[in-house]
Amino acid sequence: MDIHEYQAKEILSGFGVEVPPGALAYSPEQAAYRAREIGGDRWIVKAQVHAGGRGKAGGVKMCEDDHAIQKACEDMFGQKLVTHQTGPEGKGIYRVYVEGAVPIEHEFYLGFVMDRSSQRVMIVASAEGGMEIEEISAEKPDSIVRSTVEPAVGLQEFQAREIAFALGVEAGLVSQMVRTLMGCYRAFSELDATMVEINPLVVTGDDRIIALDAKMTFDDNALFRHPQVAELRDKSQEDPRESRAADRGLSYVGLDGNIGCIVNGAGLAMATMDTIMLAGGQPANFLDIGGGATPERVAKAFRLVMSDKNVQAVLVNIFAGINRCDWVAEGVVQALKEVQVDVPVIVRLAGTNVEEGQKILAKSGLPIIRANTLMEAAERAVGAWRNDLSQATRMRAVT
Ligand code: GDP
Ligand code: MN
Repeated sequence: MDIHEYQAKEILSGFGVEVPPGALAYSPEQAAYRAREIGGDRWIVKAQVHAGGRGKAGGVKMCEDDHAIQKACEDMFGQKLVTHQTGPEGKGIYRVYVEGAVPIEHEFYLGFVMDRSSQRVMIVASAEGGMEIEEISAEKPDSIVRSTVEPAVGLQEFQAREIAFALGVEAGLVSQMVRTLMGCYRAFSELDATMVEINPLVVTGDDRIIALDAKMTFDDNALFRHPQVAELRDKSQEDPRESRAADRGLSYVGLDGNIGCIVNGAGLAMATMDTIMLAGGQPANFLDIGGGATPERVAKAFRLVMSDKNVQAVLVNIFAGINRCDWVAEGVVQALKEVQVDVPVIVRLAGTNVEEGQKILAKSGLPIIRANTLMEAAERAVGAWRNDLSQATRMRAVT
């Protein structure tokens, strides 16, 4: 789960990371009022969306008076901000964060990520801040300092000092850099984050180290341990298809093709999508119904997949271990009776109670296309979708 910059800054500041004075606003007038409360004579107005690259896309504006703040806000509120991280549809701006501007002397990049190959938290830092990490690694790869943390002891001060020295931090600022690194690490590990990124982390004209931007991502599977983090979720920033599924306890991933996939287990989802591609199709999404799915749950899954307008065929691929093929089949039949499904439906069942499952599908009298292997299912799905498509084109040509 992602959170907003202002929320990440509030969390990190609780762990000793210094951030600029700032306040949240939901309207242009409130933003101007907030700026007066903060004081000073220059402010930064920042669109709060779950994406980076806002600066280049017009989502970060420097303002010198009330009028400029209101104007910046009017240009932002209600708009979709499109950055290189949002995709072409962009993300809606419903909140802005106003901060007192900070004079920048130097910018650093600082990131904490889960490194799967070493199975440790990895700190990635560079004295070439201000650019995205992808640009830094393409243009200044030698500037990147990497350091992994031994999980049994956590980040140690000597290690944080070594990172500060490797970044060329001035002697007088090393202890502030160490405090920042230690704070980020503690926030990362205590709150089960999967990513903390501060870009830029700046040195100011008056020798302070301040996080000007902050991004945090959390492990969804650990959110139950951190209700104070879970409540920061902002559904307005999520793919509505994915949040509807999450609300129903299903996990859904939206894609760009036109074959909807209902599967159990993420590994099977990957294999199903690969096989669809191999057969010449493109998945529209995949929905993981998980283990022990009841007929009701399968029917819910069907409704969700069918609510995606791009879906022109549905492939149900279940390998039942804990699941039961008869329950899945009942769910498919129930869904097809309730939901108007005007696209081909292909079902491949294997595992527990497969014979009962096949019988239920056969007896239903519904136009379900059955397949025995995954390859067969993918080929039938792609074939049925193409067939449907050419029929639709023919019909359009006739009328
Ligand atoms: P991002 O583009 O989404 O990563 O948003 P950032 O929060 O990083 O803001 C973009 C850029 O605006 C930063 O890299 C800074 O160069 C600049 N910026 C943000 N806050 C301040 C500030 O307080 N003072 C100054 N001088 N520049 C700022
Ligand atoms: Mn940034």
